Amino acid sequence: MEFYTRGGMDINMYYSTIHTHTNYCDGNNTPEEMVLAAINKGMKTIGISTHGPLPFDVKWAVDDDKIQTYIDEINALKEKYTDKIDVLLGMELDYFIDTEFDHIDKSILKQLDYTIGSIHYLGRFDDGRPWTVDGSYDKLLSGINSSYDGDVKKAISDYYYHLSKMVEKYKPTVVGHMDLVKKNNKNNLLFNENEDWYKDSVCKCLDIIKDSDSVIEINTGAIARGYMTEQYPSRWILEEINSRQIPITINSDAHLNDNIACKFDEMYELAKELKIENLVYLTKTGWQKIVL
Ligand SMILES: [Zn+2]
Ligand SMILES: [Zn+2]
Repeated sequence: MEFYTRGGMDINMYYSTIHTHTNYCDGNNTPEEMVLAAINKGMKTIGISTHGPLPFDVKWAVDDDKIQTYIDEINALKEKYTDKIDVLLGMELDYFIDTEFDHIDKSILKQLDYTIGSIHYLGRFDDGRPWTVDGSYDKLLSGINSSYDGDVKKAISDYYYHLSKMVEKYKPTVVGHMDLVKKNNKNNLLFNENEDWYKDSVCKCLDIIKDSDSVIEINTGAIARGYMTEQYPSRWILEEINSRQIPITINSDAHLNDNIACKFDEMYELAKELKIENLVYLTKTGWQKIVL
C-alpha cells in the first residue's frame, strides 16, 4: 500500500470523493461538471455514484433506460481526463427490505468500479407505498406508526439490523451514510444516541462490518444541503469504527458541483483529532492509505 502525506500547508488539496450525484438522478450537474469541480479542488479521484434503480418508480433514481448511457458517459470521462484525475464509475445501491439488491441487474453491477450500499427505505405503508428514514419527520413517524406500531426503538434497531445483513451478504465497497436515521432526530426528537440499546445496535452492526471488506464513509451531504450541522456518522461512532480498525473514507455526497468538497477541511481535522488510523481513498488501482 502506498502512503501519501497531506501537508498542513496544502489546504486546497483533497484526496477524493466517490459519493456524488448528477443529473442522471437527483443531482444538479452533468458528470463532466462534477469531474471538473473535483479537478479544481486538486482531487486525485472522483467517483460518480448515481442512485441505482429501485423495485418501484422514484424520481430521484436513474431511469432504467438511461443506465447504459450513464455507464458509457462515465467511462468516456475516464479516458478524457486520465492525465488529470482518476474517474471511477459507481452506483449508490438502495437495499430494500423486500428485494435486498435483487432488483438490480447483475450485468449492471459487473460494469461498476465500486458500489455504495445504502438504506433509505425501511418499510411500506398499509397501501403499499414505501417510506424512507430520511424524508420529513412526519413521514418517518407515520411510517414507524404503520410498520412498527409506533415502536421507535424497534424501527431504529431494525435499520441497523438490515444494514448489517446488507453488508454481510453483499459486501458493498462503501457503507453509505451509516447513521442516516439521525437526520430526523434533532434535539433527540425520536431517540437518545446515548442510550444503551442504540449504542448496542450500532456496535453490533460495526462488528459485522469489521468482518467484511466494506469501508465506512464520513458523509458531509446533509451539511451541504442544510439538513444537519454535522457529518454522518456521529463522532462517538467514528471512535468505535476506529477502535475496530475499520477503514474510513471521506465523501461529500454532493448533488451540486459547488459542494464537491463541502466541509472537507473540517473532516480532515476531525480525522486527525480522533486519530483515525485507517483513513483511505479509492484509486484506479484500489484503496490507498492517507496519513494526515
Ligand atoms: Zn443516500
Ligand atoms: Zn447519495
